[in-house]
Amino acid sequence: MLIDIPKNLLTVESRIAAACNAAQRPRHSVQLLAVSKTQSVQAVAQLASCGQVAFGENYVQEALPKLAALSQLQLEWHFIGPIQSNKTADIAAHFDWAHGVDRLKIAERLSAQRPAHLPALNICVQVNVSGEVSKSGCRPEDVSALCSRLIGLPGLRLRGLMALPAPAAQQANVRASFHILRQLFERQAATTPHWDTLSMGMSDDLEEAIAEGSTLIRIGSALFGQRIAGNSAPETAS
Ligand SMILES: *Cc1c(COP(=O)(O)O)cnc(C)c1O
Repeated sequence: MLIDIPKNLLTVESRIAAACNAAQRPRHSVQLLAVSKTQSVQAVAQLASCGQVAFGENYVQEALPKLAALSQLQLEWHFIGPIQSNKTADIAAHFDWAHGVDRLKIAERLSAQRPAHLPALNICVQVNVSGEVSKSGCRPEDVSALCSRLIGLPGLRLRGLMALPAPAAQQANVRASFHILRQLFERQAATTPHWDTLSMGMSDDLEEAIAEGSTLIRIGSALFGQRIAGNSAPETAS
């Protein structure tokens, strides 16, 4: 099957524009992160040639050769998978953002391992807003305490919150999960400098996410087509 990436981008762009319009939000208040896990270097380069700058990867081993192959394009790389201790050095050295920070120990390692010549690593705290459905993410009641510890880490810049609720197809009301994250985000805003990123929404639910205030949607299949089966589960660790 031939996948028309430029056409898919136009379709996603029009969905974002319609959702922003419905929510009375300016288009520039929502950033598009292209999730390129399992996609080829060529596919990323093609989307980059359409003007896309920010890309997300879930698996460190898969990502590093891709980042190296595309290094001359000046792309912005986000690590969006679950973060294991033995992967923090590579993430700190090669990525601009990490969205899956859910405990202090991981944050401390990322901070200590961030190379001195690079700016601070931008991070989002991942929150488990759908209870037992998800294995990753800190509990909503722990967000405030965790954030207050992360603010002081010199190698990191805490930017906001991220959630990965069960997809709309498996959950009656995905918007309720987004709403919980939004409330946590607003509660934290007064006490956290540089607090500007609400990372939520994927291909199937970007409209609900934008309606609930998402500032960064993470879109894979709507841009690149369906991923190869067996290598697509967002919860799969690298
Ligand atoms: C794969 C993935 C996405 C993109 O999912 P699509 O449904 O393909 O848009 C977004 N966020 C995370 C954390 C993912 O792992």
